[in-house]
Amino acid sequence: MHAEPDALESDHRTVETMGRTIMARLARYVDDLPSAPAGRFGEADAAVRRMRRPPAEDGAELEALLDAFEDAAAHGANPASPGYYAYFPSGGLVSSALADAFAQVYNRFTAVADLAPALVAMEHGVLRWLAARFGLPEEAGGLVTTGASLATLTALVAARHDRLGEDFARGTLYVTEHTHYCIAKAARIAGLPPSAVRVVPTRHLRMDAAAAARMIENDRAAGLRPFLLVGTAGTTSTGTVDPLNDLAGLAARERLWFHVDAAYGGGLQLTARGRARLAGIDRADSIVVDPHKSLYLQYGTGVLLVRDAAVLPAAHADGGDYLQDLETVEQLPDYGNLGPELTREFRGLRLWLPLHLHGVAAFRRALDEKLDLAELVHRQLANDPLFELPWKPDLSVVVFRLHGTDELNRRLLERINATQRVFLSSTKVEGRFFLRINPMSHRTHLPDVQKALATIKECARQALDSQCAAPR
Ligand SMILES: *Cc1c(COP(=O)(O)O)cnc(C)c1O
Repeated sequence: MHAEPDALESDHRTVETMGRTIMARLARYVDDLPSAPAGRFGEADAAVRRMRRPPAEDGAELEALLDAFEDAAAHGANPASPGYYAYFPSGGLVSSALADAFAQVYNRFTAVADLAPALVAMEHGVLRWLAARFGLPEEAGGLVTTGASLATLTALVAARHDRLGEDFARGTLYVTEHTHYCIAKAARIAGLPPSAVRVVPTRHLRMDAAAAARMIENDRAAGLRPFLLVGTAGTTSTGTVDPLNDLAGLAARERLWFHVDAAYGGGLQLTARGRARLAGIDRADSIVVDPHKSLYLQYGTGVLLVRDAAVLPAAHADGGDYLQDLETVEQLPDYGNLGPELTREFRGLRLWLPLHLHGVAAFRRALDEKLDLAELVHRQLANDPLFELPWKPDLSVVVFRLHGTDELNRRLLERINATQRVFLSSTKVEGRFFLRINPMSHRTHLPDVQKALATIKECARQALDSQCAAPR
């Protein structure tokens, strides 16, 4: 199938054959996932060289180009694999990805409600539903972004505008050493100096609210202007939830904006256990959730929710003469006015379709299953005298290490990942190296976790044996 030089348009037959070709490959890919490597490293050089070739003047066969993609995708980590437990597994719901492809062919402009009112309403409906899950009031609003980093920047600028106005040079915000760096990055982009980001001490990995109160008081006395308190609902390293109710109370007393980073933990709000662990999140002024983490969607999907929808346009709205034809639509947001982006793809369908198609209960059941799996992983490893597990998981992230040196644990991680059946990542907590396992993919079930535990224990024995055999 050669593209005609003057024919960028795909006709009826081309759409059908292209679609069939791609769908057949996708169906096979999904079939093969259980036996595909969870990560494959060290053989990518030739593929990297091949992939950099420039496009041909006269086009090429679709099949050959899809072969190239499959070749490229065979290298590196595979977050779609049921054996992937690193970082935040995002299997990526096929229903959501196909919804996206569907919406992308329509290619509608949804930055302004006037140009696509009912499509904007679809996205708005999902956001209002999500806001209600977090106990936010009717006036709540939100925005679908590409991820938590951009959602956080959007929130931080809104908070800065709302609490400090134009004179924000002495503004300060409060995080812990376990807060994701996207907060500090957003502060930097928003024009705050690095010294504005105040790091509050923690107790058992959680922000110490009393210490935060003292820092805020001292900062005020020093002439600074505290404006933002950040709680995390599921830290990136250990999945720990800050004491959200205490922090909400402190923020209210001190008139600070209370932001909750629930990028990872937010999806679990759909479960009873998650709601109990995230208690207090309903008191947030803004919440960030990554559906590409705990709602199983494909990468590129973040959500910002705000208690008062009006704060976003107050900070971000702008206009130009070239947009003078556009009217505002009652009750519908102009997404281009709520954050940094104007033109954006219609991100609503990738959320709307899977939620409506599978039903909310399917998500809740899957998330509950993950919480059970994490409890099982924790129990199994904690009961094995070889391992050290200082913290019980709040959500689905379990951190562990072998009794012994950091070096031994680094070798354990290498060994596990070299099996290609299981892929884990590591982190540093309180200065020590920990392995990290997060059984969070919608494709990961009990038999996968049992196999992963067997692999981890087998590799642990090998790492210990080789340490005895060949001490370094
Ligand atoms: C992953 C993560 C982020 C960053 O999210 P992106 O979607 O990668 O931008 C922020 N906060 C927490 C707690 C996270 O786990």
